[in-house]
Parts: sequence; C-alpha cells; structure tokens
Amino acid sequence: TPTIGVLALQGDVREHLIALAAADAVARPVRRPEELTEVDALVIPGGESTTMSKLAVLFGMLEPLRERVRAGMPVYGTCAGMIMLANKLLDGREDQETLGGIDMIVRRNAFGRQNESFEAKIDFAGIEGGPVEGVFIRAPWVESVGGGAEVLATYDGHTVAVRQGNVLATSFHPELTGDDRVHAYFVDMVRAGL
Ligand code: GLN
Repeated sequence: TPTIGVLALQGDVREHLIALAAADAVARPVRRPEELTEVDALVIPGGESTTMSKLAVLFGMLEPLRERVRAGMPVYGTCAGMIMLANKLLDGREDQETLGGIDMIVRRNAFGRQNESFEAKIDFAGIEGGPVEGVFIRAPWVESVGGGAEVLATYDGHTVAVRQGNVLATSFHPELTGDDRVHAYFVDMVRAGL
C-alpha cells in the first residue's frame, strides 16, 4: 500500500486525506522536509497558491519539493495545486513561486473572472463509469501544453486535467465531491511506479 502525503501548508488538506484513504492509500499530512522523505507520493491541495508559495518558502519546503518532483515522485495537484505544478504561470503574483513538473502554461483565476464557482460533468480520459463531477472554485485553466504532457479532460474548450509522466493536475476539486475515482486513478499511478 503506498503512503501518500498531502502538502499541509494551506488548503483543503483534510478532504484529500479522506479521499486518499477511501482510494486505499495510507495518507498523511506533510509540512516539513523530514516528512516529505517518508512518503511515496504527494497531493498538493486546493487553496490559495500565492499563500502556499509563501509558506513553502518559509517552511524550507520549496527546494525539497522541487527536488522530489524532479526525481520523479508522483504528484497530484488540484486547483492551487495545479498552479504549483505549472512550468509557467500567467496572472500569478510577481514573487509567486511554482515547483514546476508539467510542461504547461497555467492561467491563474482563469474561470474566476466570469464565474466564481460552478460545477460541471467532466469526461476524464482513463476513468470509467461516466463523467466525474468537477467543482471549480476560482479555478485556473491550462492555456497550453508542451509535447510531453497529455490532456485528460477539457471543459468549454479549456484544458482542465493534464498528466505528464508521474505528475497529474486538475483545475477542479474531486476531493470535495465524494467521488474518489480521480484519487483512485492517482493511487494506481503511484502503485504502478512502486
Ligand atoms: N485561485 C486560487 C489560487 O490562485 C486557487 C483556487 C482553488 O484552489 N480553489 O491559488
């Protein structure tokens, strides 16, 4: 059984811990570099990416996180977590850091301007049993992806789920729906690499 951490600097950590446990992983919060060394994989939750970036610097987590991602640790980011995994960010704060991991350009708050928050059914490549419920809260979208990244879902013409190797990102929050299929998809990714 893989042990999967949830980055617990800021955001909806508890919901991810519950969804991961439901998807048959051992889940625990990760705040410090020592805790990061003890997990096989990591989820970066939804929340506020500028705050998360600041806290990652304050907690001495930015470089350890970048190193683990570079070394191939499986990571899944939702919403603010997707922003953290972008190689390039649009509409970020000036001093905002990302970890990178997916060759994609992400636009922060892209859906937020028209629509603070909405739900939509999302067809997700590789997930069976019908569309997943997507909860979008001041959500980013993926403006473009490079050659190595695979688009797994779109909504209204915009890319909202991407995978590159061991790194997965969604604009929306499966952890808020009680539908654990995206978490199960990620747990399968992690198992395949163990
Ligand atoms: N708009 C937020 C940000 O920039 C993300 C919102 C979310 O995670 N629900 O980080």
